[in-house]
Parts: sequence; structure tokens; C-alpha cells
Amino acid sequence: MNEAVLVLNANFEPINVCTTRRAIGLILSGKADMVLNGRGHIRTVARLLPRPSVIRLEVQVHRPRPRVKLTRREVFRRDNYTCQYCGRRDGGLTVDHVMPRHLGGEHIWTNVVAACPACNHHKGARKLEESRMALAHLPKEPPANAAYLYGQHLSKNGEWEPFITGW
Ligand SMILES: [Zn+2]
Repeated sequence: MNEAVLVLNANFEPINVCTTRRAIGLILSGKADMVLNGRGHIRTVARLLPRPSVIRLEVQVHRPRPRVKLTRREVFRRDNYTCQYCGRRDGGLTVDHVMPRHLGGEHIWTNVVAACPACNHHKGARKLEESRMALAHLPKEPPANAAYLYGQHLSKNGEWEPFITGW
């Protein structure tokens, strides 16, 4: 009952991921329709319920343009789990502030990168130019489009792809 279900707005824009339990609740209360099943059924005492993979809300939900929350996990994901100084992918990663915080560097998308512990230590509390290190990519805020927000679910839920593409 805890599998991921893709929730589409009334205009078919993907807006959320919920659990099977929540999705069935939304369908039974008339707030959503099943768009895609593909997972068989759940037998209860009273009836056979579908196990939705994609549902669509009956009424369009208005909400602000989504943004990707700045967290360690999202920084690593944006940077493809790669140290932005040396390109290493193995070993643990840390979040490095390109302009060190004690020099006024902010905790914002354009000032944080994934760095391996060795590079983070080597750079230390110096500015980038003082460290003579170089970044693989200039850090940017990742796009909050559906491909970025929900693409991570595609390995388990390949059937979502047509619903995510283009949003
Ligand atoms: Zn490194």
C-alpha cells in the first residue's frame, strides 16, 4: 500500500507523488480518477480495488511554481554524485561552499557544490581563486521541472515517463 503513485493535476501536469493508500482514498472520495492501473488489484472484504500507478485530480489545484529544496541530497543529485573539483565519484561526498561562509558566502544553490572530503579539506576556508582549484560546472539552481522532480522514480515506475515528459 506504500508504493509510489504519480498524482497529476486536472490539466495532466504531474504535481506530486503519494502512496497507494492515499491514492485509493482520493479515488474513493471522488477527488481523483485513475489514469493508469498496471498493478493489479487489492481484494478487500467488500470489493476489488484497483492499485493505481497514476491518478489525476478532478479539480485543478493552483500552486506556486515549484522549486527544488536546497538539501545535501539534492546538491549531490544535481552534481551527479561527483566531486565538482576532482571528478571522483567514489567515497563520501560533502557540501562545499564555493565562497566560504565566514567570508560572506551564502547557503544558496549558486554557492554550494558536491565535494569529496579530500578536496573540501584541501580548499579549506579559502576562496576558489586562492585555492587554485577549478569547478567542473558552475553551480546553478536545478530546474524544478517534472523530469527533475520525478525522474528519480522512473527506474521503478517506467510507465510514468509519458506523463512526465514535457512538463
Ligand atoms: Zn574531490
